[in-house]
Amino acid sequence: MTFDSLPLIDSIRRAIKAEGYTTPTPIQTEAIPIVLSGKDLLGCAQTGTGKTAAFAIPILQLLSERQLHRKGTRTIKALILTPTRELAIQIGENLASYGRHTGLKHTVIFGGVKQARQTDALQNGVDILVATPGRLLDLMAQRFVSLKHLEIFVLDEADRMLDMGFVHDVRKVIAVLPPKRQSLFFSATMPPEIVTLADTILHEPEKVEVTPASSTVDLIQQWVYFVDKENKANLLIHLLNEKKIENALVFTRTKFGADKVMKVLMRNNIKAESIHGNKSQNARQNALTNFKAKSTRVLVATDIAARGIDVDELAHVFNYEIPEIPETYVHRIGRTGRAGASGTAYSFCETHERKSLKDIQKLINKVIPVVAEHPYPQGQTPGNEEPKAQTQPSKPSATKARPRPQGKHQSAAAKETQGGGQKPKSGNKKPWYAKQKEGKKGQ
Ligand code: AMP
Repeated sequence: MTFDSLPLIDSIRRAIKAEGYTTPTPIQTEAIPIVLSGKDLLGCAQTGTGKTAAFAIPILQLLSERQLHRKGTRTIKALILTPTRELAIQIGENLASYGRHTGLKHTVIFGGVKQARQTDALQNGVDILVATPGRLLDLMAQRFVSLKHLEIFVLDEADRMLDMGFVHDVRKVIAVLPPKRQSLFFSATMPPEIVTLADTILHEPEKVEVTPASSTVDLIQQWVYFVDKENKANLLIHLLNEKKIENALVFTRTKFGADKVMKVLMRNNIKAESIHGNKSQNARQNALTNFKAKSTRVLVATDIAARGIDVDELAHVFNYEIPEIPETYVHRIGRTGRAGASGTAYSFCETHERKSLKDIQKLINKVIPVVAEHPYPQGQTPGNEEPKAQTQPSKPSATKARPRPQGKHQSAAAKETQGGGQKPKSGNKKPWYAKQKEGKKGQ
């Protein structure tokens, strides 16, 4: 199946071609015709499946066809509600790419930055609005946003909205939408609260389900290393260097942890930046831009900040800590192996994290192979217990065992992980909404 088999208008077809896409992803193949037919859609898909294009392309097409018959000022005809500013920006970038020949205008609004640029853009008139819930409600209250003429509503990452406590805000937005509209609802998982929410929004939806969260993208190679906490930084540096890893995304559990890991990498001459909710919007966007441009080798991120990070060709993801919520593991490793590409995920597991590892394996219905031989095996740090016998002694590329007792002789890297944070460097900036001054703390 190619994009030529989909009933797309020429202006969009050209834009897709310029993006280098030839084959629609499964969610695109299924969802695009449904959305074009005007029906409601319930999409169970996570990021990395191509879901943004699955709704952005048909929305652009529908509005593009309808705009031929419209006169007068621009009004908001499509609203895409998404939980984080990073996702909002990315959706905005996708709309700009796919819609570049359509003449449609869009803008992106989110909290944590001054509102002037956003309200200016709204007052100039837009066809499509991408928004996070809090800022949308705020600008609606100030009458900068009217949804009176809305035709299409998208709720993106509904389960994440729930996790982040935005469901109340989402319900407030839904309450003011015109009842006669087309609604598209996307969620990676479908817990009962999400099904209830979908029921209140959708009318006789068509359902599309791809790569449910519990079935990890098979193309991603996954490995686990049993290692003591004190040696995680050493192991990370070792793997980055030994495997000549060009770019990697490293996940930590806390904002504090992200800064610590970033600092230790920098001290070891590995260019790193951290991204988390305590960083200003500018700092986060700059870190992301530098990472995408490959001027930063390692991006250290917390889960919420990393949600929606979309880096083409990101081949390596590290779980510096094992997430306690198994679905988080799936979301994290989904940053690599995007749209059919291959990727590798390394997880560092200390003794107390084994229970979480077990839960993950249960969710993905797969045993993650253990790399038994590496220079920092567990139990080599005085005071730590020996690991239990490993049942899957496999290894991706043989790392020779070179046990190095730590503790007293802890390396600089290990010591530094117990230290403080460091400010990230800034780099190139684009687009305008990435340039705004710091306001509130991150979402
Ligand atoms: P998403 O799931 O929307 O976050 O998209 C994941 C990534 O896949 C993004 O980098 C898109 O640019 C890319 N992508 C989306 N659709 C296609 C396609 N049909 N062919 C190749 N790449 C795609």
